[in-house]
Amino acid sequence: MQETAYAKINLALHIRKRREDGYHELETLFAFVDGGDTLLAKRAEQDSLQVVGEFGAFLGSPLPEGEGSGVGAPAFHNRDGASPPPNLPPQGGRSSGANIVMQALGALPRPDGLAITLEKNLPVAAGLGGGSADAGALFRLVERAHGLPDDWRTRAAKLGADVPACVESVTCVGRGTGTELDPIASDLSGTPVLLVNPRVPLATGPVFKAWDGQDRGPMPEGSAREIAEQGRNDLRDPAISLCPVIAEVLAALGKSDSWKVEVSGSGATCFALFDSIEARDAAARALPSDWWQMAGRLR
Ligand code: ATP
Repeated sequence: MQETAYAKINLALHIRKRREDGYHELETLFAFVDGGDTLLAKRAEQDSLQVVGEFGAFLGSPLPEGEGSGVGAPAFHNRDGASPPPNLPPQGGRSSGANIVMQALGALPRPDGLAITLEKNLPVAAGLGGGSADAGALFRLVERAHGLPDDWRTRAAKLGADVPACVESVTCVGRGTGTELDPIASDLSGTPVLLVNPRVPLATGPVFKAWDGQDRGPMPEGSAREIAEQGRNDLRDPAISLCPVIAEVLAALGKSDSWKVEVSGSGATCFALFDSIEARDAAARALPSDWWQMAGRLR
């Protein structure tokens, strides 16, 4: 069995309130790109996880926390780079139990085990919900093999605020901490999209902490396109403050024939939406070759 862990973007992300418990009340429009990580599953006696792929070596790597996070963080190696930076431990040195895929397996009791191979194509700590998408794909695999328990949403939310949306992997409005979901029929399905990451990991927590606490108003209502056109990402400025190269990515994409350029989630990945494949591919060709990029369409 195989499932794609679709890359998540936020077409809008309005933060309304910082809660006492450190979480944030937000209004967001989740959308998904038709590509991402791949999970292969085989029935086995015991659960196991093998990680391969371009970004596999970065899973579980320590991310800088607090003030200045993102600045001076170890860069992802280029496609032609031989190995991860020396200050990052190799994947083999970690317990695979820390991987959210193993956590998701543990959250879903089953009569037999699953041997999973995760091909990690998405950059880690990148605002694409990569780990959440992997957990979401795992839930769908288990659904196919055994069905899901009635309370799967609660189990998914315990793994991460974006996980329930990633299980669905369809365009939906998220409220609360992002776990209260309303799927919407998207007029952006099939829209050409380009994802660009400057190969700088950025932890989510410090970006939320850098938000100034000012409520800038609710997410607009309307179609997905209207929300994307009129909405904001309130994490854009905090992300740039911690990782200034994001401004360069936005500026480079801003020169293209895109109708929407924004930071995805907490960054550092940025996305651009286009009215044609030709415009998207021309934009991709014009970018510096050392940035990671992925072209696709919105689901
Ligand atoms: P979000 O957009 O939900 O904030 P993100 O894209 O910024 O997420 P992830 O790629 O999900 O961040 O990684 C966040 C952290 O989770 C990293 O420190 C990483 O080591 C850890 N992690 C555990 N399992 C995974 C996984 N399967 N894929 C990615 N990261 C994982």
